[in-house]
Amino acid sequence: MNKNEIKYEKNKKNMKLELIKNYIEETKQQSKKSKSKSKKEMSKNKNKSNSKDSKKDENEKIKDKETRKKKFEEDYKLILEMRKKKTAPVDTLGSSNCIKQKNIDFKIYKFQNLVSLLLSSQTKDDITYSTTQKLVEYGLTIDNMIKIPIEKLTEIIFKVSFHNNKAKSIKKLAEILRKKYNDNAPENLKEIIKLPGIGKKMGILYMKECLNKIEGIAVDTHIHKISNRLNWVNDTKNPEKTEVELEEICDRKYWNNINTILVGFGQEICKSVSPLCDSCLLNKRCEFGKNVIMNKKSKEKEKNMKKRKE
Ligand code: SF4
Repeated sequence: MNKNEIKYEKNKKNMKLELIKNYIEETKQQSKKSKSKSKKEMSKNKNKSNSKDSKKDENEKIKDKETRKKKFEEDYKLILEMRKKKTAPVDTLGSSNCIKQKNIDFKIYKFQNLVSLLLSSQTKDDITYSTTQKLVEYGLTIDNMIKIPIEKLTEIIFKVSFHNNKAKSIKKLAEILRKKYNDNAPENLKEIIKLPGIGKKMGILYMKECLNKIEGIAVDTHIHKISNRLNWVNDTKNPEKTEVELEEICDRKYWNNINTILVGFGQEICKSVSPLCDSCLLNKRCEFGKNVIMNKKSKEKEKNMKKRKE
């Protein structure tokens, strides 16, 4: 081979190598493109299926809400039937009965209602009632509550739970109403629940009692417990969450009386400890009640077996 021929062969070899290199590069690019395309398609499909799932979830939620709404209506009718035959402490001694003199100055009437609601928290109705009466006898006015020594106030209300804190709250309440509201308690829920010792439940009851305004369902521990036992709500962890879910399924026509009806039902039949499931009209449609009855029966069986063995 002469020099030219060697050069030619070398160039040919280089060209071949170049071609192979290009081919490899092109293949790499193509595979990258196809990978990213399939990734995009996959995410598109995922989005599609996600939106399908969320639609499905939404439909299931609506269905679930409708079912709970229907169950609530049917259960509530039976509870009303039971409540017609059975009165409860809340009917005569509840906070709405504590202040009777509607002919007193409206400003004082509102203040007295707030104090009675404040006292009622975590306290039995009869104790709230008798303590409010004691305060009324003493003179339950803003002026008197500002002037009364804290020790004396604590002594008057000592039967209610958390009386030390409640005495402080009553004094603070009187001072705030004097300074900020010129002795005239506010008339909207947002302002009311900012007052010391007054939560949402009490605010709703105050709005109903004093101003005839229905702003929601006042959920206490009885209503929270009953709503969960009867599956009206989705296993809610606190009364605040129960209130939200209950208001969704409970028609507004019930809001006026539901607190008294259910609190009384909780006090007399669907008690926290040892509910009277045997005689409850709901025991065939209440999973909690069915379990209570079943457990009771199996305990009785065990007892009888033990007796026979002895
Ligand atoms: S069956 Fe028992 S748990 Fe259920 S609502 Fe009646 S009393 Fe309450």
